[in-house]
Amino acid sequence: MPKTAVDLLERARRVMPGGVSSPVRAFQGVEGEMRLLARGAGAHVWDTDGREYVDLVGSWGPLILGHAHASVIEAVERAARDGLTFGATCQAEIELAERVLARYAAAGMEQVRFVSSGTEAVMSALRLARGATGRQRIVKFDGCYHGHSDGLLVAGGSGLATFGTPSSAGVPEEITALTHVLPLDDDTALEELFAERGGEIAAVVIEPLPANAGLLAQRPAFLARLREVTAEHGALLVFDEVISGLRVAPGGMCELTGIRPDLVTLGKIVGGGMPVGAYLGAADLMEQLAPAGSVYQAGTLSGNPVAMAAGIATLDALDAPGVFDGLEAAGARLEAGWRAELAARSVPGVVARAGSILWTCLQEGEAPRAVHRITDEAAGRYGHAHPRILDAGCWMAPSAWEVAFISTAHTDGDLDRAVAAFGAGLDALGA
Ligand code: PLP
Repeated sequence: MPKTAVDLLERARRVMPGGVSSPVRAFQGVEGEMRLLARGAGAHVWDTDGREYVDLVGSWGPLILGHAHASVIEAVERAARDGLTFGATCQAEIELAERVLARYAAAGMEQVRFVSSGTEAVMSALRLARGATGRQRIVKFDGCYHGHSDGLLVAGGSGLATFGTPSSAGVPEEITALTHVLPLDDDTALEELFAERGGEIAAVVIEPLPANAGLLAQRPAFLARLREVTAEHGALLVFDEVISGLRVAPGGMCELTGIRPDLVTLGKIVGGGMPVGAYLGAADLMEQLAPAGSVYQAGTLSGNPVAMAAGIATLDALDAPGVFDGLEAAGARLEAGWRAELAARSVPGVVARAGSILWTCLQEGEAPRAVHRITDEAAGRYGHAHPRILDAGCWMAPSAWEVAFISTAHTDGDLDRAVAAFGAGLDALGA
């Protein structure tokens, strides 16, 4: 590796655990050495040695307009000149709230609370659900990620009605005992748990488009059944749309499925690259938050004008005619390209896609809909191919479980380069 990167990597590892501020960035799931990024513009990033890549990570989802989009940068600069943060409600906050709620109005969302991350949004939404129902138990699904709050770092227990167990050291069993973990795509498991414990469950949280352990698109009938079962038992349904929200459609999976959850959580795109999360619900539910209600949640930097400005500029740019059609077409092009590269080499692999979110799983068969159907061999193949993909000029996630994101900045030429780089990675598999 070039000297600059080696020096920086050594320094990073000396002063930060694993040299990172978030674990997946450490490249532990792939064979190559961790690389550091220095700059981004449009669909491209440059590492600290000046190597340029077509970026398919997009900072893990927020950058739907690409890096350093002119209108976002201009809005951020303008807002910053008037002060970074006030700790008082500002006009930009109201304007972002109005834009977000307009997109989720059909799903029944009437009020929003801004926070600073997706983790905070889900953690707070579940607190609200517990406060509103007076119940303590929550349900999540194996393979869905909802941030790193204690109650959500949970692995499934041995039986359906058993309690979850911590999936991280430092998380008390007493907390995860209140979280049940169900398999995705399994109506029976869902119905059995509710038959046994339905009256104790405050909320079920799901990524309606699970995109944190591959892209595990669920059957619409499964999501509809989830809505029915939760409603029958008086449990709230939380759609965690931190990834899918504002991306797969303006109103996210709520719009695409027509399902009306009780709460929606957002992150990533809502802050346009700045740290913003949000949770949304009907007014009577949201009014149970302090100061109006008794569920406490607060944040020093929540709703700050600079982050709000980035979110507003991003949503406004997404309102331009044809944007979502363009993202769909770009997604289809990358999907077709990946499929062709796989077919040309007879490498086992499937491609899953939802609009501008794509995932390839390097194994035979159908695209998996549950995490236990992804094999270790598939992850191993990806890890082996990854350094070659980077060397061929495409920045893909350093983990087989992570999806690729396309932005409005990706041109056909960028996508074709990304496809060729993927092909170069497959060549490393020797098939
Ligand atoms: N929920 C989902 C669906 C996510 O994908 C993520 C992060 O990737 C989170 C919550 C947590 O968001 P953050 O990393 O902003 O805390």
